[in-house]
Amino acid sequence: MRIAAIILAAGRGSRAPTATGVPKQYAPLGPHCVLAHTLRAMGQHPSIGWLQVVIHADDRAAYEASVRDLEDNRLLPPVIGGATRQNSGLAGLAALESHAPDAVLIHDAARPFVDAGLLARIGDALATVPAVIPGVAVADTLKRAGRDGRITDTVDRAGLWRAQTPQGFAFGDILAAHRRAASAGLSHFTDDSALAEWHGMAVGIVEGREDNRKITTPEDLAMAERVVAGGGLPDVRTGTGFDVHRFDAGDHVWLGGVKIAHTHRLEGHSDADVALHALTDALLGAIGDGDIGQHFPPSDMRWKGAPSRLFLEDAARRVRERGGRIGNVDLTILCEAPRIGPHRDAMRAAIAGMLGIEVARVGVKATTTEGLGFTGRREGIAAMASATVILPGLL
Ligand code: MG
Repeated sequence: MRIAAIILAAGRGSRAPTATGVPKQYAPLGPHCVLAHTLRAMGQHPSIGWLQVVIHADDRAAYEASVRDLEDNRLLPPVIGGATRQNSGLAGLAALESHAPDAVLIHDAARPFVDAGLLARIGDALATVPAVIPGVAVADTLKRAGRDGRITDTVDRAGLWRAQTPQGFAFGDILAAHRRAASAGLSHFTDDSALAEWHGMAVGIVEGREDNRKITTPEDLAMAERVVAGGGLPDVRTGTGFDVHRFDAGDHVWLGGVKIAHTHRLEGHSDADVALHALTDALLGAIGDGDIGQHFPPSDMRWKGAPSRLFLEDAARRVRERGGRIGNVDLTILCEAPRIGPHRDAMRAAIAGMLGIEVARVGVKATTTEGLGFTGRREGIAAMASATVILPGLL
């Protein structure tokens, strides 16, 4: 399922004035502003292909500043919202129409603590219902009071839920609902599920999270600051890889994606690029996604003689699928020969190209083993690698 996300950030936030007067979605919250946290959190769902933010015309500069270091190619240019939440939702939906997603998640910019588990529950539910929202069952006893401040009665809380976002919908259905409401001159709906209900869509509910709270008041912002300060470390992962291939009769080896003339070749099912194999395992290890042998079994004839860049590019794709970025990779090649130094820069450039990262983030080193062991006896080449990956969200 191809899912788009709309983040509504056009509100003026008059209930939570910030020190600098910017609306609360642009208020600083730990290392990023509220909206940037929200975008990072929404980007965690692997099926989200587009991130569409709806902003107020006065907030262009604040918006550009908040997404400057986001580096997420799913982020579309912002669209300008309308006078109400409902108008802004329609502006976001209309902007996504040409991309024709199957479903859309509509989310408040001021809910930065949405987590991957909640996104997964909503995405899974959309496979069976056209609309689904997260809700939290009301736990407090509910009272109704008159204008004089006196309680008139106690409200039965059975079956009552507090609606949260992101709310998920079949894209075509919610767009039709919005357009029908707009042409009927109705603009009073306070969330998209109210509009979906009015349109006659079946709306399901999944368990929301108490900490998926909306930042509405200055107290909410202060509490969010405490949450981020207490657990706001970036989710950085590391992985390691190691591989060995033996020499056989031949006249060249592939190492780090570079063909090097040599007295032997390396034996293996693929092109036997021991360095790229170690790097592939390092990346897979960083995201806990098995190893090279699992994804590309030697028993599979498709990989006979295959260029190993396919394996490394696949590992990089798996990182991107999780919304991750590669921080750096580092490679050590252990052999007596061939000499690696003359080929170091070519290897770094080749690896950087396969991973889609800057050359400065690729380390290539080599060492002999002083004549000791199998590498010292020139029976083969070993390679070890490490990688860091930054996943979206905070620890
Ligand atoms: Mg190998």
